[in-house]
Amino acid sequence: MKPQVEIYDTTLRDGSQGEGINFSVADKLRIAEKLDAFGVHYIEGGWPGSNPKDMEFFAQASRRRWRNAKIAAFSMTRRKGVAVEKDELMRQILDAKTPVVTIVGKTWLLHVTEVLRVKPDENLAMIGDTIRFLKDHGKTVIYDAEHSFDGFKDEPEYALATWQAAEKAGAQCIVLCDTNGGCLPEEIARITAFAKGRLTARLGIHTHNDCGVGVANALAGIEAGATQVQGTINGYGERTGNCNLTSVIPLVHFKLKKSGVPANSLAKLKELSEFVDEIANVRHDPRQPWVGQTAFAHKGGMHAHAIDRIARSYEHIQPEAVGNYRRVLISDMSGRSNILMKAAELGFKLKPEMPEVKTITQRVKELENQGYEFEAAEGSLALLIGKTLKHRDPLFHVDAYHVSMRRDASESVCEATVKVSVGNKHAQTVAEGDGPVNALDQALRKALVEFFPQLREVALIDYKVRILASRKSELLRKARAANKNKPGKFYEGFTKATNTLLEKEGGTAAKTRVLIESTDGRREWGTVGVSENIIEASLQALVDSMEFALLKK
Ligand SMILES: [Zn+2]
Repeated sequence: MKPQVEIYDTTLRDGSQGEGINFSVADKLRIAEKLDAFGVHYIEGGWPGSNPKDMEFFAQASRRRWRNAKIAAFSMTRRKGVAVEKDELMRQILDAKTPVVTIVGKTWLLHVTEVLRVKPDENLAMIGDTIRFLKDHGKTVIYDAEHSFDGFKDEPEYALATWQAAEKAGAQCIVLCDTNGGCLPEEIARITAFAKGRLTARLGIHTHNDCGVGVANALAGIEAGATQVQGTINGYGERTGNCNLTSVIPLVHFKLKKSGVPANSLAKLKELSEFVDEIANVRHDPRQPWVGQTAFAHKGGMHAHAIDRIARSYEHIQPEAVGNYRRVLISDMSGRSNILMKAAELGFKLKPEMPEVKTITQRVKELENQGYEFEAAEGSLALLIGKTLKHRDPLFHVDAYHVSMRRDASESVCEATVKVSVGNKHAQTVAEGDGPVNALDQALRKALVEFFPQLREVALIDYKVRILASRKSELLRKARAANKNKPGKFYEGFTKATNTLLEKEGGTAAKTRVLIESTDGRREWGTVGVSENIIEASLQALVDSMEFALLKK
């Protein structure tokens, strides 16, 4: 069955124009295979004339079997004053041996006369000649009409003449491009609808995200009659990027209710998005709509409460429909519902009417207020819940520790001593390390392994330090915000009021939060520590990490 909206992916061509995006030939082939399996309709592999890497991609792609997608090679209209069959560009594009060829040409008179410096009629001939030549060589030709919207706004008659030249020469699809990304959805809709009324060829839409409306513009184009949409996975592309197909694909299916990629591919959308980031060596954007880690994360207590009852109440679609999942975050905004859901996730049987629920919720709020953060520290949260529920003493105590560091001309040495007690037994160990925290970790582990051999398997995999704003600077920021209409005034009030408050609270130094991630080879967990002293904060997180490892799962 023919899709109502064709998905044309240009991650490998327009997407690779993005800053920091570099694909090898092998990368391109892997992404193309993934896109093919996912079910996009066209994969634009590159510009054969522009570099040897793209030529190599096409050579390898022509030897593979593609199940769903047609591979497209990109190029431009013939050069001015050169017969099409003599143009080197045409030889290169034919050498790519693709079934589809996409040709970009000029729509905007400004570009024709000022940039290309050709007569308006010559540009029309360049469009027509190129498309006819490629059609005669058995290619399906897609015509990318560069600057369609800007050109139309300037000289509508001429813009239409370029599109008609492409149509007359046999272009299968005329793609209206917002090349500079400066148009608004209303303009895209109006101009696409106009083109629809004057052309019989299929229309496509190609937008860029310079104003943050790349996806909205693509939808406006589709609703006005475009049946092909061009874009890139994760919105890679020049400047702020292309229209993000990772959003367009589910929008076409779930919101416009039109057929695009096969319906059973949608559940693999998050995986596709992560795969392409992985190959591009780009960190996956947690706030990306539909597929980001936070797309279905609930923090506010009221939301979590409602989600627990009816997911639909605070979610626009089911996360699983695009391969994503719901997450409940623990924070100072947490209500009891978050705690209950999180506890269930961690394997505790907690019921809403139990008095401990209130105790735990309050404790979490208190600690978050002091700078703790449990979103990435589920290990510490599990210990907190466990201790409150079972009123159980910790399995070990750190009675004392000492860390020192010395440096001579050739090397620096850190040494830590740790005293622990387990029941009524004691142990004291010394260890060296690359730094104070590493030395402390080694000494603590050495001491505890005597009692708990299973800790031998535990390893640190990540260590993050965040300096939290000091209480004083936090109060200063608040005072400034409250007095922003009377500059100069707030200092007076600030000094008096806050100094009293700070004296009462004690301590004005900045705090350090340490987050540690550990593994025992089977699972991973995070723990947290907060103190004005970085070594102390690290020790707290280390102790939690070992304690969590000893919890029976
Ligand atoms: Zn583009």
